[in-house]
Amino acid sequence: MGIKKLQVYQGFEQGPIRPPSEANSLLIRVTRNCPWNRCTFCSVYKNDDFSLRRVDHVIADIESIFEVVNVVLNELNEQGQLTQEVVHTIAMKYFADNLQVFNIATNWLARGEGSVFLQDANSLIIKPDDLIPILKHLKYRFPWITRVTSYARSHTIVRIPEPKLAELAEAGLNRIHIGMESGCDEVLARVDKGVTKQHHISAGQAVKKAGIELSEYVMPGLGGSDLSEEHAFHTADALNQINADFIRLRTLAVSPGMPLNEAYQSGDFQKCTDLEVVSEIHAFISALSGITSTLASDHFYNLLQEVDGKLPDDKPRMLRILEQFMHLPDDEQSLYQLGRRLGYFQSLDDLQPGVQRSGVESVYKRLEVTPENVDKIVEQHMLKGI
Ligand code: SF4
Repeated sequence: MGIKKLQVYQGFEQGPIRPPSEANSLLIRVTRNCPWNRCTFCSVYKNDDFSLRRVDHVIADIESIFEVVNVVLNELNEQGQLTQEVVHTIAMKYFADNLQVFNIATNWLARGEGSVFLQDANSLIIKPDDLIPILKHLKYRFPWITRVTSYARSHTIVRIPEPKLAELAEAGLNRIHIGMESGCDEVLARVDKGVTKQHHISAGQAVKKAGIELSEYVMPGLGGSDLSEEHAFHTADALNQINADFIRLRTLAVSPGMPLNEAYQSGDFQKCTDLEVVSEIHAFISALSGITSTLASDHFYNLLQEVDGKLPDDKPRMLRILEQFMHLPDDEQSLYQLGRRLGYFQSLDDLQPGVQRSGVESVYKRLEVTPENVDKIVEQHMLKGI
């Protein structure tokens, strides 16, 4: 594969996305877009070519952030505290021609988490011997950094020799986010994920063995109605063999721009209803066993974000929340679905009588929502949010 490397430095760059858990991280772009770019449920990079960034260009980005951090910390030492006025003066005095970098660096400092996320979709595709100097430079310039993380594909990780993965860990890479999506081979093939269940298991185990924290993203609903059961079972089975630090749920949302939408519109893909997704997550969590992962529902598409906790202790509580929804009368389920998608409801407790519920009830009446049409109406609201 001929991977392009742009030869001319084009200034500090940031890519379009990061995991929700990296909201406070400094984003350092080491590649552009996705080298695979074929998953049918993903529209993020579909119109963009993949390219590697040169190591010296990434280092130049780190240097420009360091320059700001250095000036700001010196001022902080001298003045004891930084008022908005002082920050504004520094910006105008030293960085007026590069306010984008100034804002990125100062926001990162202000958030105080000291974490860095390497962009874009699969940073580990870079040769380890190119990534290691980048990691070392981050540590050199920002010795207080607590976490350096990256997205990576399982297919890429299984091709990295074990000692090299250990060297990456040693150089400071301490968390990897993998889009597992599913552990079911039939689902993975159908959405053109380009990996198998075995790739996922081997990659996850290799990351753990290298001493790197592991986040695995699972996509409820990805198997559609016909493969929902297999999707739940095999995904749990794969995760039971990995024992990831985090399992993160990110429910499928089908939107224009993703190839899966064509299959959905033509009827070739039978999208799960919200109730089917809840039942699927119930089957999935029920099948998780022998692991100590933390399960998180930290994505806004998820219907029941309160389904999170540490396995095995919180498993009964998480199942109870799902059962609570499954056992609600039909019209209460659809009221919750609407309230959640409109942003009124955060948890099932919000169904209790009160101002929030009354607000959702009036929209429910106005849109003529019923248990039969709620998924269609909710889908339209979700599309507006994408
Ligand atoms: S590997 Fe990730 S970024 Fe690339 S197409 Fe698939 S889901 Fe999208």
